[in-house]
Amino acid sequence: MVILKSAYKFRAYPSKDQKEILNRQMYLSKEIYNLLLNYSKSYYKETKKTLTEYRMNVWLTKLKKKRSEFNELHFQVLQNVSKRISDAYKSFFRRYKEKKQGKKQGKKVKVGFPRYRTFVSSLTFPQSNGFKVERKRISLSKVGRINFVNHREIEGKTKTCTIKTTKSGEWYITLSVEKEDTIPFVNKGEQAGIDLGISNYRTLSDKLVLQNKHIPKKTRNKLRQLQKTISRRKKGSHKRKKAILNFARKYEHISRIKEDHLHRLSDNLVHSYSFIAYEELNIANMVKNHNLARSIGEESWGNLINYLQYKAESAGCAVVCVNPRNLTQECSDCGNIKKGEEALTLKNRTYHCFVCGLTMDRDLNASKVIKRRGLEKFNSWTSERSRILPSRKEGNSTTPGQGGSYASGDIVRPRLQEADVIERGTILGVSR
Ligand SMILES: [Zn+2]
Repeated sequence: MVILKSAYKFRAYPSKDQKEILNRQMYLSKEIYNLLLNYSKSYYKETKKTLTEYRMNVWLTKLKKKRSEFNELHFQVLQNVSKRISDAYKSFFRRYKEKKQGKKQGKKVKVGFPRYRTFVSSLTFPQSNGFKVERKRISLSKVGRINFVNHREIEGKTKTCTIKTTKSGEWYITLSVEKEDTIPFVNKGEQAGIDLGISNYRTLSDKLVLQNKHIPKKTRNKLRQLQKTISRRKKGSHKRKKAILNFARKYEHISRIKEDHLHRLSDNLVHSYSFIAYEELNIANMVKNHNLARSIGEESWGNLINYLQYKAESAGCAVVCVNPRNLTQECSDCGNIKKGEEALTLKNRTYHCFVCGLTMDRDLNASKVIKRRGLEKFNSWTSERSRILPSRKEGNSTTPGQGGSYASGDIVRPRLQEADVIERGTILGVSR
């Protein structure tokens, strides 16, 4: 049996008293964290061994007898601190190993030893007796019943509950959930790859083109003007604060328009296709980009991927991310990769393959490569899963209309007419 893990995040509204209790517990958690870290360091000095989570917990029980204030914390919240330290050590050793290996390959990996904390901004209640989820409230042991906005139905068994506060003083609850993996429902749509290039348009491997929501020049200029106003105002002045607020409001307004468009676009995609592959986005490069209009655009495409991922399962669509390496240089037909002087530059809009003679729009070629890479990845993944789940081999009786067995890695389904897709997805329009 395969267990799927997922998480649900909700906005929470603790009362004034509850906030006080939570802040106090976070303060105590910080104290415990630093005490434990200190203890594990000295333990290592004496024994040359790392402290196990079990030993940390034994030590905590003794500590509680000496310092009664730690009884204010639920014992599992306390034990979660041991887990956090143990995880910090594990990741330290993992990165240390990576650093050693990385040196050989000329890569730089940053390694930081677990550090003392100046604050802790979240508490985790493991297992189900530390917390209980009700319809509009969540009761946390030794805190109370906290109001939260339950906007989604929770599917599966809740395992942990984490309450967290942000810098602006908002509170959030995250529930981690486990559920048994069921045979996925698969819709009858085609398979596609999306090329996420650099423009406002995105090409699908079946020649359809996605368009980002167009924001009129007037609106964009207004935004730029508001941004300039901020830099003209004196730092720390009241007028500057007001200018920042005005800019933020306009920016968020534009973001909402784009988001709405992306929600409709992603709905369309997951219902029109049974399989979508996309290239992994380089977040680091996106952050570096200071061009405002561009950054809004790129942010949008990042959101599109998020929406696709969380909408895919219920719509019967599989979404797979692929390695973007050499994407634009690879021929979608014969797989040859252009190198050196042959390589495509940004100016070349057409891909021409000297090996097999293929001539194609460069974005279309890239999206076809993405689709192929995605399918390769997905097929090896499904055949791996079928090894874990042998019963799946004849398991498609519960999903009527599904052509072929899901488990065998054969995901070819009846082809949809291109016209159908265009009709179903009005936003998918613009054909090249
Ligand atoms: Zn070729």
